[in-house]
Amino acid sequence: KKKFKDKVVIITGGASGIGKAAALSFGMEGAQVIIWDVNQAKTNQTVEELQLKKLLVDGICLNITDPEETQKAANQVAEKYGKIDILINNAGITRDATIKKMNYNEWQQVLDVNLTGVFNCSKAVIPWMVEQQHGRIINTSSVVGLYGNFGQANYSATKSGLVGFTKTLAKELGKYSITVNAVAPGFIATEMVEAMPAKVVDMMIGKTPLKRLGKPEDVAFVYSFLASEEASFVSGSVISVDGAVTL
Ligand code: NAD
Repeated sequence: KKKFKDKVVIITGGASGIGKAAALSFGMEGAQVIIWDVNQAKTNQTVEELQLKKLLVDGICLNITDPEETQKAANQVAEKYGKIDILINNAGITRDATIKKMNYNEWQQVLDVNLTGVFNCSKAVIPWMVEQQHGRIINTSSVVGLYGNFGQANYSATKSGLVGFTKTLAKELGKYSITVNAVAPGFIATEMVEAMPAKVVDMMIGKTPLKRLGKPEDVAFVYSFLASEEASFVSGSVISVDGAVTL
Protein backbone atom coordinates (compact mmCIF):
# COMPACT_ATOMS: atom_id res chain seq x y z
CA LYS A 1 0.00 0.00 0.00
CA LYS A 2 1.26 3.46 -0.82
CA LYS A 3 2.25 5.52 2.23
CA PHE A 4 -0.21 8.40 1.66
CA LYS A 5 -3.05 6.58 -0.08
CA ASP A 6 -6.39 8.25 0.82
CA LYS A 7 -4.59 11.19 2.50
CA VAL A 8 -5.51 14.74 1.52
CA VAL A 9 -2.57 17.14 1.56
CA ILE A 10 -2.50 20.88 0.90
CA ILE A 11 0.88 22.27 -0.17
CA THR A 12 1.19 26.07 -0.27
CA GLY A 13 3.66 27.41 -2.82
CA GLY A 14 3.41 24.00 -4.49
CA ALA A 15 3.81 25.35 -8.02
CA SER A 16 7.60 25.60 -7.88
CA GLY A 17 10.80 24.73 -6.03
CA ILE A 18 10.54 22.73 -2.82
CA GLY A 19 6.74 22.77 -2.87
CA LYS A 20 6.65 21.25 -6.35
CA ALA A 21 9.09 18.52 -5.28
CA ALA A 22 6.78 17.86 -2.33
CA ALA A 23 3.71 17.68 -4.60
CA LEU A 24 5.53 15.08 -6.70
CA SER A 25 6.70 13.06 -3.73
CA PHE A 26 3.31 13.01 -1.93
CA GLY A 27 1.61 12.29 -5.26
CA MET A 28 3.92 9.33 -5.94
CA GLU A 29 2.99 7.97 -2.50
CA GLY A 30 -0.69 8.01 -3.46
CA ALA A 31 -1.89 11.23 -1.76
CA GLN A 32 -4.55 13.55 -3.10
CA VAL A 33 -2.48 16.73 -3.41
CA ILE A 34 -3.96 20.22 -3.63
CA ILE A 35 -1.50 22.94 -4.56
CA TRP A 36 -2.29 26.42 -3.24
CA ASP A 37 -0.23 29.02 -5.09
CA VAL A 38 -0.54 32.66 -6.07
CA ASN A 39 0.98 32.13 -9.51
CA GLN A 40 -1.85 30.97 -11.78
CA ALA A 41 0.30 30.07 -14.82
CA LYS A 42 2.81 28.06 -12.78
CA THR A 43 0.02 26.35 -10.84
CA ASN A 44 -1.71 25.22 -14.05
CA GLN A 45 1.59 24.06 -15.52
CA THR A 46 2.60 22.06 -12.42
CA VAL A 47 -0.85 20.50 -12.00
CA GLU A 48 -0.87 19.45 -15.68
CA GLU A 49 2.66 18.07 -15.47
CA LEU A 50 1.88 15.96 -12.39
CA GLN A 51 -1.49 14.80 -13.73
CA LEU A 52 0.33 13.51 -16.82
CA LYS A 53 2.25 11.25 -14.43
CA LYS A 54 -1.18 9.95 -13.32
CA LEU A 55 -0.87 11.56 -9.89
CA LEU A 56 -3.89 12.91 -7.98
CA VAL A 57 -3.01 16.59 -8.09
CA ASP A 58 -5.33 19.57 -8.10
CA GLY A 59 -4.63 23.29 -7.78
CA ILE A 60 -6.25 26.38 -6.33
CA CYS A 61 -4.84 29.78 -7.22
CA LEU A 62 -4.97 32.01 -4.15
CA ASN A 63 -3.01 34.51 -2.13
CA ILE A 64 -2.33 33.15 1.35
CA THR A 65 -2.20 36.70 2.71
CA ASP A 66 -5.99 36.86 2.33
CA PRO A 67 -7.77 35.13 5.24
CA GLU A 68 -11.12 34.89 3.45
CA GLU A 69 -9.65 33.33 0.32
CA THR A 70 -7.76 30.74 2.37
CA GLN A 71 -10.79 29.82 4.48
CA LYS A 72 -12.88 29.46 1.32
CA ALA A 73 -10.23 27.24 -0.26
CA ALA A 74 -9.95 25.04 2.86
CA ASN A 75 -13.71 24.56 2.93
CA GLN A 76 -13.68 23.76 -0.79
CA VAL A 77 -10.99 21.07 -0.26
CA ALA A 78 -12.76 19.55 2.75
CA GLU A 79 -16.11 19.47 0.95
CA LYS A 80 -14.67 17.98 -2.24
CA TYR A 81 -12.35 15.40 -0.65
CA GLY A 82 -14.10 14.84 2.68
CA LYS A 83 -11.21 15.92 4.94
CA ILE A 84 -7.84 17.63 5.26
CA ASP A 85 -5.09 15.41 6.67
CA ILE A 86 -1.94 17.43 6.07
CA LEU A 87 -1.06 21.10 5.59
CA ILE A 88 2.43 21.95 4.34
CA ASN A 89 3.00 25.66 4.90
CA ASN A 90 5.73 25.99 2.28
CA ALA A 91 5.03 29.27 0.43
CA GLY A 92 7.54 32.00 1.24
CA ILE A 93 9.20 35.05 -0.30
CA THR A 94 12.32 37.16 0.14
CA ARG A 95 12.79 40.93 -0.28
CA ASP A 96 16.46 41.30 0.58
CA ALA A 97 18.12 44.51 1.74
CA THR A 98 20.37 45.48 4.62
CA ILE A 99 18.53 47.13 7.50
CA LYS A 100 19.86 50.56 6.50
CA LYS A 101 18.18 50.25 3.10
CA MET A 102 15.17 48.08 3.87
CA ASN A 103 11.92 49.98 3.55
CA TYR A 104 8.58 49.43 5.24
CA ASN A 105 7.06 47.68 2.19
CA GLU A 106 9.89 45.16 1.96
CA TRP A 107 9.50 44.44 5.67
CA GLN A 108 5.71 44.17 5.56
CA GLN A 109 5.41 42.08 2.37
CA VAL A 110 7.66 39.40 3.81
CA LEU A 111 5.76 39.38 7.11
CA ASP A 112 2.44 39.18 5.26
CA VAL A 113 3.37 36.09 3.25
CA ASN A 114 5.80 34.22 5.49
CA LEU A 115 4.09 34.76 8.81
CA THR A 116 0.50 35.98 8.38
CA GLY A 117 0.06 33.62 5.40
CA VAL A 118 1.02 30.67 7.60
CA PHE A 119 -1.38 31.89 10.29
CA ASN A 120 -4.20 32.19 7.71
CA CYS A 121 -3.67 28.72 6.23
CA SER A 122 -3.38 27.11 9.65
CA LYS A 123 -6.52 28.86 10.92
CA ALA A 124 -8.39 27.72 7.82
CA VAL A 125 -7.62 24.00 8.24
CA ILE A 126 -7.53 23.65 12.03
CA PRO A 127 -11.34 23.49 12.52
CA TRP A 128 -11.44 20.55 10.09
CA MET A 129 -8.50 18.82 11.78
CA VAL A 130 -10.04 19.31 15.23
CA GLU A 131 -13.29 17.77 14.02
CA GLN A 132 -11.36 14.80 12.57
CA GLN A 133 -9.22 14.50 15.73
CA HIS A 134 -6.25 14.09 13.45
CA GLY A 135 -3.92 16.31 11.48
CA ARG A 136 -0.40 17.26 10.50
CA ILE A 137 0.83 20.83 10.09
CA ILE A 138 4.35 21.36 8.78
CA ASN A 139 5.90 24.82 8.60
CA THR A 140 8.95 25.91 6.63
CA SER A 141 11.47 27.83 8.69
CA SER A 142 15.08 28.26 7.54
CA VAL A 143 18.66 28.19 8.80
CA VAL A 144 18.35 31.94 8.44
CA GLY A 145 15.64 31.93 11.12
CA LEU A 146 17.95 30.12 13.52
CA TYR A 147 21.19 32.02 12.80
CA GLY A 148 20.29 35.26 10.96
CA ASN A 149 21.64 36.31 7.57
CA PHE A 150 23.14 39.49 6.20
CA GLY A 151 20.50 41.37 4.16
CA GLN A 152 17.56 39.33 5.44
CA ALA A 153 16.31 40.98 8.65
CA ASN A 154 12.71 40.71 7.42
CA TYR A 155 13.01 37.10 6.22
CA SER A 156 14.94 35.85 9.24
CA ALA A 157 12.43 37.51 11.61
CA THR A 158 9.59 35.58 9.94
CA LYS A 159 11.50 32.30 9.90
CA SER A 160 12.36 32.65 13.64
CA GLY A 161 8.74 33.62 14.25
CA LEU A 162 7.63 30.33 12.73
CA VAL A 163 9.63 28.44 15.35
CA GLY A 164 7.59 30.00 18.16
CA PHE A 165 4.38 29.58 16.17
CA THR A 166 5.15 25.88 15.57
CA LYS A 167 5.91 25.14 19.21
CA THR A 168 2.83 27.01 20.49
CA LEU A 169 0.49 25.22 18.09
CA ALA A 170 2.07 21.90 19.03
CA LYS A 171 1.17 22.62 22.67
CA GLU A 172 -2.36 23.82 21.93
CA LEU A 173 -3.37 21.19 19.36
CA GLY A 174 -1.76 18.04 20.79
CA LYS A 175 -4.98 17.05 22.55
CA TYR A 176 -6.66 16.68 19.14
CA SER A 177 -3.88 14.38 17.84
CA ILE A 178 -2.64 17.15 15.60
CA THR A 179 1.14 17.35 15.31
CA VAL A 180 2.87 20.59 14.35
CA ASN A 181 6.51 20.65 13.25
CA ALA A 182 8.89 22.73 11.18
CA VAL A 183 11.77 22.08 8.85
CA ALA A 184 14.72 24.44 8.61
CA PRO A 185 16.30 24.06 5.17
CA GLY A 186 19.82 25.28 4.45
CA PHE A 187 20.77 26.37 0.94
CA ILE A 188 18.54 24.53 -1.53
CA ALA A 189 18.87 24.71 -5.32
CA THR A 190 15.63 26.50 -6.25
CA GLU A 191 14.94 29.80 -8.04
CA MET A 192 15.36 31.55 -4.68
CA VAL A 193 19.04 30.50 -4.50
CA GLU A 194 19.78 30.21 -8.24
CA ALA A 195 18.92 33.92 -8.61
CA MET A 196 21.97 34.74 -6.47
CA PRO A 197 25.40 35.55 -7.98
CA ALA A 198 27.57 32.46 -8.65
CA LYS A 199 30.16 33.75 -6.17
CA VAL A 200 27.62 33.77 -3.35
CA VAL A 201 26.39 30.28 -4.26
CA ASP A 202 29.98 28.98 -4.27
CA MET A 203 30.50 30.53 -0.85
CA MET A 204 27.37 28.77 0.46
CA ILE A 205 28.61 25.43 -0.86
CA GLY A 206 32.02 26.09 0.67
CA LYS A 207 30.43 26.64 4.09
CA THR A 208 28.36 23.45 3.86
CA PRO A 209 30.15 20.34 5.23
CA LEU A 210 28.36 18.14 2.66
CA LYS A 211 29.83 20.38 -0.09
CA ARG A 212 26.71 20.81 -2.22
CA LEU A 213 23.43 22.67 -2.31
CA GLY A 214 20.41 20.76 -1.10
CA LYS A 215 17.95 19.46 -3.68
CA PRO A 216 14.25 20.35 -3.35
CA GLU A 217 13.60 16.62 -2.82
CA ASP A 218 15.92 16.61 0.21
CA VAL A 219 13.42 18.88 1.96
CA ALA A 220 10.33 17.20 0.47
CA PHE A 221 11.34 13.85 2.00
CA VAL A 222 11.49 15.40 5.46
CA TYR A 223 8.03 16.94 4.95
CA SER A 224 6.91 13.46 4.02
CA PHE A 225 8.46 11.87 7.15
CA LEU A 226 6.82 14.48 9.42
CA ALA A 227 3.47 13.88 7.69
CA SER A 228 3.67 10.09 8.06
CA GLU A 229 1.97 7.83 10.62
CA GLU A 230 5.46 6.82 11.81
CA ALA A 231 6.04 10.39 13.03
CA SER A 232 2.89 10.49 15.16
CA PHE A 233 4.88 11.18 18.39
CA VAL A 234 7.03 13.90 16.82
CA SER A 235 5.58 17.33 17.54
CA GLY A 236 7.00 20.78 18.23
CA SER A 237 10.26 19.84 16.51
CA VAL A 238 12.34 21.89 14.11
CA ILE A 239 14.34 19.59 11.84
CA SER A 240 17.32 21.03 9.99
CA VAL A 241 17.84 19.91 6.40
CA ASP A 242 21.01 21.82 5.73
CA GLY A 243 24.00 19.59 5.01
CA ALA A 244 25.31 20.51 8.49
CA VAL A 245 25.87 24.16 7.49
CA THR A 246 24.73 25.33 10.92
CA LEU A 247 27.34 23.35 12.90
P1 NAD B 1 10.11 29.27 -4.67
O1 NAD B 1 10.18 30.75 -4.86
O2 NAD B 1 10.71 28.38 -5.69
O3 NAD B 1 8.59 28.84 -4.47
C1 NAD B 1 7.71 29.55 -3.63
C2 NAD B 1 6.30 29.40 -4.18
O4 NAD B 1 5.42 30.13 -3.29
C3 NAD B 1 6.10 30.01 -5.57
O5 NAD B 1 5.48 29.08 -6.43
C4 NAD B 1 5.24 31.24 -5.31
O6 NAD B 1 4.35 31.53 -6.38
C5 NAD B 1 4.47 30.82 -4.06
N1 NAD B 1 3.97 31.99 -3.31
C6 NAD B 1 4.64 33.13 -3.03
N2 NAD B 1 3.84 34.00 -2.40
C7 NAD B 1 2.63 33.40 -2.27
C8 NAD B 1 1.38 33.82 -1.72
N3 NAD B 1 1.22 35.04 -1.19
N4 NAD B 1 0.33 32.95 -1.77
C9 NAD B 1 0.48 31.72 -2.32
N5 NAD B 1 1.63 31.29 -2.86
C10 NAD B 1 2.71 32.11 -2.84
O7 NAD B 1 10.75 29.04 -3.22
P2 NAD B 1 11.46 27.74 -2.58
O8 NAD B 1 12.91 27.98 -2.60
O9 NAD B 1 10.89 26.48 -3.11
O10 NAD B 1 11.00 27.94 -1.05
C11 NAD B 1 9.95 27.23 -0.44
C12 NAD B 1 10.01 27.50 1.06
O11 NAD B 1 11.26 27.07 1.57
C13 NAD B 1 9.90 28.99 1.41
O12 NAD B 1 9.13 29.14 2.58
C14 NAD B 1 11.33 29.39 1.66
O13 NAD B 1 11.42 30.50 2.51
C15 NAD B 1 11.86 28.13 2.31
N6 NAD B 1 13.32 28.00 2.24
C16 NAD B 1 13.98 27.94 1.05
C17 NAD B 1 15.36 27.82 1.04
C18 NAD B 1 16.15 27.75 -0.24
O14 NAD B 1 17.38 27.75 -0.16
N7 NAD B 1 15.54 27.68 -1.40
C19 NAD B 1 16.06 27.75 2.25
C20 NAD B 1 15.36 27.82 3.45
C21 NAD B 1 13.98 27.93 3.43
